[in-house]
Amino acid sequence: MLQRLLLRCPNWISPPLPTSHQLLPPSSKTPLFSWIPPAPAPPAGQPSSSRSHNSRPALRSLSCTSAGGGAGTESQPLQQHQGMAAQDEKDPRLARISSSIRVIPDFPKKGILFQDITTLLLDTKAFKDTIDLFVDRYKGKKISVVAGIEARGFIFGPPIALAIGAKFVPMRKPKKLPGEVISEEYSLEYGKDAMEMHVGAVQAGERALVIDDLIATGGTLCAAIRLLERVGVHVVECACVIELPELKGRERLGDKPLFVLVNG
Ligand code: AMP
Repeated sequence: MLQRLLLRCPNWISPPLPTSHQLLPPSSKTPLFSWIPPAPAPPAGQPSSSRSHNSRPALRSLSCTSAGGGAGTESQPLQQHQGMAAQDEKDPRLARISSSIRVIPDFPKKGILFQDITTLLLDTKAFKDTIDLFVDRYKGKKISVVAGIEARGFIFGPPIALAIGAKFVPMRKPKKLPGEVISEEYSLEYGKDAMEMHVGAVQAGERALVIDDLIATGGTLCAAIRLLERVGVHVVECACVIELPELKGRERLGDKPLFVLVNG
């Protein structure tokens, strides 16, 4: 895998990914990914950046906006704070999840701080805690569809779907699905992309959870919501491991509830 990554990014000089036994508990003083140089100190009088290159930021408000009651059933809506990952900011699971995500500067292109969840997957406890937090929130909420967005929504979606007794529906990039599809276009920074879903994978009236690894501008999640709603599915909530709050993707979702575990 490392070889493949190096091929894709020949200038990347990071050492190999740590194995799970090398991942340190969040309480350790040693930075998890110490090979990434520290961010320069800000000029005097200026606040330091919320993101640094050598470590993830301290957990800020772990957010869950659940306008309209979040994932609760119609008869039993969740309270605003019920089931929030942020309910207890001292929950050690959240700190561990946050510190297990690696941040790679300038990948895949200059200026992007890439939130690499592959290191979270190496930490068996952080990975399990991630799934458990989602499952705790969505079990018993009559969700029959977990719609995972290609590609990293395919990592988190299936274990959640299995645990809550829902089917998993892949929302794929164009021309990947073999059957008849419906498609939804969305805008990227440069140009357009599209997302496809098999016709017949979902039925009108079903209740869906949309899952991806990260929300940035929110365009991807919006496309998934539109696609599902076009065929009469009720999107109960969107869920991501990471939110980049500066990009205000949450606002783009309007009143559609969004649940995230950590901020990037
Ligand atoms: P957006 O549509 O702008 O919310 O972008 C979200 C999608 O792009 C998700 O599928 C993410 O996996 C990916 N993405 C965007 N920005 C990043 C980032 N900084 N690090 C990792 N993935 C990202």
